[in-house]
Amino acid sequence: MSRVAIAELAAQPNQVSRGWIRIPGVDPAWEVPAVVVRGVEDGPTLAVTSGMHAAEYVPIEAVTRLTRWVDPARLRGTLLAVLLVNSPGFYERSIYVNPRDGRNLNRSFPGDAAGDPAERVADFLLRELIDGADAYVDAHCGDLIEALSPFTLWTKAGDPAVAARSRALSEAYGFEHSLGVDPDSVPGAAYASAALRGVPAIIAEIGQQGICDEPSVGRHLRGLQNVMAHLGMVDPLGPPAPAPKAMDRMVWMRTEVSATYHPTVAVGETVTEGQAVGELRDIFGEPLLALQAAASGVVVFLVTSLAVKAGDPLLGIGVMAEG
Ligand SMILES: [Zn+2]
Repeated sequence: MSRVAIAELAAQPNQVSRGWIRIPGVDPAWEVPAVVVRGVEDGPTLAVTSGMHAAEYVPIEAVTRLTRWVDPARLRGTLLAVLLVNSPGFYERSIYVNPRDGRNLNRSFPGDAAGDPAERVADFLLRELIDGADAYVDAHCGDLIEALSPFTLWTKAGDPAVAARSRALSEAYGFEHSLGVDPDSVPGAAYASAALRGVPAIIAEIGQQGICDEPSVGRHLRGLQNVMAHLGMVDPLGPPAPAPKAMDRMVWMRTEVSATYHPTVAVGETVTEGQAVGELRDIFGEPLLALQAAASGVVVFLVTSLAVKAGDPLLGIGVMAEG
């Protein structure tokens, strides 16, 4: 039978349990708010996380609403949700990393039960939430300084049958773009680790810049509901979502210097390789570097802060698959 509890947080059939779960071995205590909704009927288990990045508000709100929308009396199977993985960062409004060890949780998988806090959290989530689930969705959005066009990612790594099921989750979600990521391009990501352990998984992204806007929350919620319907846990809410446009790859442009950043393109815009997309300047306003698109495609990700640090991403161009 599929997993029906997150660590010690369990529910009986037709019951909802809410509570805080302490990550083992992290001191001072790192506790995460979690919900188990167990249906009256047996069925698949969907595991969901949000708030791995603490200032990504749209998915935190959407997953919270999902746990309140699901009616255990009409549910087949079990919904397991950790609403806010990076709980120490939430009231600090931490960008990218957690305040305990300065690490990005979504670069810390598969983790280590004897490692630093981020690695312990990652290890805990894999063992106590994701292993034994039938599918896993890691819900994200653009961080405080990021804009993006909605997309889902799945990994081509591991068992091809698992990859095919991950891809089907990605297509069911209903976002504009979908990308099957090459095995080694996102080291440490939760969805990739889950898939390598045999659990079909995606990361889904909509929303941006610390704005908890209703349209994005509604679409993230609908994506999660679509996945539950795809798995047969709830009845479909409507006709299937239109198929996403498949991306062949994502090309990242980064800065090698700390500078001010002046992009001249917006997310969703189509660019051609070599086209001007912005400029880097020094703090006196002197131009340092004219930026040209590194590929032809759609701007799916854009940093929107004036300040960029050496090594930071500037924008991501989704190169569309043929046909
Ligand atoms: Zn994120």
